[in-house]
Amino acid sequence: PSLSGADIRQAFLDFYAQRGHQVLPSASLVPEDPTVLLTIAGMLPFKPIFLGQRDPDYARATTSQKCVRTNDIENVGRTARHHTFFEMLGNFSFGDYFKKEAIAWAWELVTEVFGLPPERLVVSVFREDDEAFALWRDEVGIPAHRIQRMGEADNFWAAGPTGPCGPCSEIYYDFKPELGDAHIDLEDDSRFLEIYNLVFMELNRDSEGHLTPLAKQNIDTGLGLERLAQVLQGVPNNYETDLIFPIIQTAADIAQLDYFKATPEQQTSLKVIGDHARAVMHLIADGVIPSNVDRGYVLRRLIRRIVRHGRLLGITDPFTTAVVETSIQLAEAAYPQVRERETLIKTELQREEEQFLKTLERGERLLFELFATATQSAEAGKKDRTTLPKQISGSDAFKLFDTYGFPLELTQEIAAEQGFTVDLAGFEQEMEQQRQRARAAHQTIDLTAQGSLDALADFLSQTEFLGYTQSLAKGVVE
Ligand code: ATP
Ligand code: MG
Ligand code: MG
Ligand code: MG
Repeated sequence: PSLSGADIRQAFLDFYAQRGHQVLPSASLVPEDPTVLLTIAGMLPFKPIFLGQRDPDYARATTSQKCVRTNDIENVGRTARHHTFFEMLGNFSFGDYFKKEAIAWAWELVTEVFGLPPERLVVSVFREDDEAFALWRDEVGIPAHRIQRMGEADNFWAAGPTGPCGPCSEIYYDFKPELGDAHIDLEDDSRFLEIYNLVFMELNRDSEGHLTPLAKQNIDTGLGLERLAQVLQGVPNNYETDLIFPIIQTAADIAQLDYFKATPEQQTSLKVIGDHARAVMHLIADGVIPSNVDRGYVLRRLIRRIVRHGRLLGITDPFTTAVVETSIQLAEAAYPQVRERETLIKTELQREEEQFLKTLERGERLLFELFATATQSAEAGKKDRTTLPKQISGSDAFKLFDTYGFPLELTQEIAAEQGFTVDLAGFEQEMEQQRQRARAAHQTIDLTAQGSLDALADFLSQTEFLGYTQSLAKGVVE
């Protein structure tokens, strides 16, 4: 039998505890650091230590850290490996051991403790990091062609535009070794899965972008629990691991669907529900309440997406507390507070869901008024022989989207049932204007590594929640 998610978490922590690391509990998703909205990585609680602002209680620590990355919201259910909420297993050195030990232990852990065959692993190093390259080749014994040199985007890790950072080295799992070593392309995610990131945190970036050495050389790592579970449990994506799949099954039962026989769109909706159920549970347990700003807005958006995807599956009655109950059952052993705060979690969810369902109903009423007016003017038009298209204008579709939380697809679907079309170009135009307004209000937020900042700032600067505000430019079903 394969290892459960809980076994994997424990084995990781035990391995590093045996190597002198203090096992610390996960910090809250709400960081102490006021410049950061949510905990996006295991290193975040240790940022003051890396910066030399706080002395560490231990020279080595290991954690399984709850993380939320809103920049991955579009990836949820669409890639096999991304979540909004996930657990990052990490080992940390505060000016203690450095590259040599970090690399040797990471390799020992994945190959000996977790038994991944060395020939199924490929590693990457930062382009200029000859030292890491040599360690992998000479100390670990990886053939040079399976050590890929990569640029800054992938192999220079930073917690944000400023702050501690450094070159990193990552371990990837190869799903298709039969394709051979001639063309190793780590960007090909049908073949390779990034599992473990070792950050050699020895630099600080200031607001002008200058890099200066930190007082100490540190190690910060991140191993995605759900990703390793995917590999070890032999399932095709993180969602089908024991960490999440029971939530999906609960949702599928309510929708009277069989996940394995469902359409790809239905499977995506089920995955979104599975992912977001865990995120909203942990966010509320960590003290976040739905609102129109900041973290509360992230939470609100996640809850509304659960409801919306439920509707896409044909669920019309409230169901969020039922799926979150399964999520609580899965998480309570590792995170007892989710059961302790069960009432709070369910009350907030129920309130938000009911409110959103009412909003959806109001939107539907507005839509039917629009149909009625358009039909009347079409009738009137007949008399003077002008034919008006049966169309919902771009600005009406946008109003439904922005004020009533109607994703474009929902408007289109209902419109089609009534023989109407939607002016897509007009809708896009309104959307673009909205984006420009958001950009004008742009405020850089120190929130995430590697790009995505603009998207995030767009997302976060829309402080007033009027419904969904996600870009539909890519034709994404919200
Ligand atoms: P990717 O390139 O796959 O988006 P990343 O490079 O952004 O991952 P890191 O910032 O290096 O990820 O985070 C360390 C580890 O945390 C990753 O190697 C992965 O195992 C895990 N991880 C990162 N983002 C996610 C996510 N959205 N969902 C699940 N696991 C994640
Ligand atoms: Mg990423
Ligand atoms: Mg990456
Ligand atoms: Mg990475």
